Order: sequence, then C-alpha cells, then structure tokens
Amino acid sequence: EVDLKAIIIQLVYNQFALSENETKIGLDLGENPILIHSDPNLLFHVIRNLIENALKYTPEGKPKPLLKIAPSKNYVQIMMVDHGIGIPKEEFKFVFDTFFRASNVKNIKGTGLGLSIVHDLVKKLGGKLTFTSEENKGSVFTVTLPYERNYLID
Ligand code: ATP
Ligand code: MG
Repeated sequence: EVDLKAIIIQLVYNQFALSENETKIGLDLGENPILIHSDPNLLFHVIRNLIENALKYTPEGKPKPLLKIAPSKNYVQIMMVDHGIGIPKEEFKFVFDTFFRASNVKNIKGTGLGLSIVHDLVKKLGGKLTFTSEENKGSVFTVTLPYERNYLID
C-alpha cells in the first residue's frame, strides 16, 4: 500500500521545483492521504511523464499546469490539466500510438514514446488513461486507478 498524495509531493518537489516551496505546476491534492495498492515506481513514471508533457506543451506566459487528485469510492483519478497547445481533434485516435507526434508541435522536441508507454503502464496497474483536449486551449490527461488490485475499471 502506498500514499498517492505523498508520491506526488515527493516527485513534484524533487523534480519540478522552482524553489524550496514553489513548484512548476500547481497542486490540488486534497487534505487526506490516498492509500492505494499499487506499484510506486510505475506510478512515479506515469505521473512524471504526464507532468513533463504538460510543461513542454504549455507556451511561455500561459497559466501553470495543475495536477489534481479526485478520489471516488472504488477508484481515484489523477488529472493533469494544462492550458497549452492542445491536440487537433482529427489526431485524437493516434495519441497513444508509438512515435505519434501531433501536427502542431512545431519546434518542440520529442520522440513520441512517452504516452504510449504510460498508456501500457496504466493498464498494467489495472487502470485507464484517458484525455480531452482542444487545440490552443489545453488538455486534461486523466489516470483512473483502482484502490484495490482486483477492482477492474471498464
Ligand atoms: P517523449 O517520448 O519525449 O515523451 P513526446 O512528448 O513527443 O516525446 P508523447 O509524450 O508520447 O511524446 O506524446 C505524444 C504526442 O502527443 C506529443 O508529441 C504531442 O504532440 C502530444 N501531446 C502529449 N501531451 C500533450 C499535451 N499535454 N499537450 C499537447 N500535446 C500533447
Ligand atoms: Mg512526452
């Protein structure tokens, strides 16, 4: 059993800090620990990748991305919200494909591997990765995870 909230705080303050008490993304993690039966290393990888994308695809001068935890009864959602370049609607169906890069990335560097790996890892954890996005408005990537390994998310 791991505390999802503690994992996020550790990751964000270690790898995405601006100063001792300021981070590159906003956090809305609620008051209480979120205990889940899951693999902390895979969770680190998943959340780190989504934060990296949110930062990379947000132009200078836009509001900071925001990472939220939304707990429900049988599952918890981690939502990475950004106000970045978004993804063109016609390309949604390719987003989790290996080497996919959207047509609007311009000179932003990347290999197109991050999300396809994250998608597989989330599945391995018994969860689901979904997103919504609007070009030039922003994106929300949502990881839905069960608290218990035997609870299946459809
Ligand atoms: P890397 O393998 O280094 O992560 P990448 O960021 O290009 O490279 P993915 O993370 O797999 O690859 O993302 C695939 C593509 O999806 C990106 O190239 C980009 O076009 C789009 N994308 C992913 N996240 C976002 C986001 N938060 N906002 C806008 N576009 C995004
Ligand atoms: Mg990426």
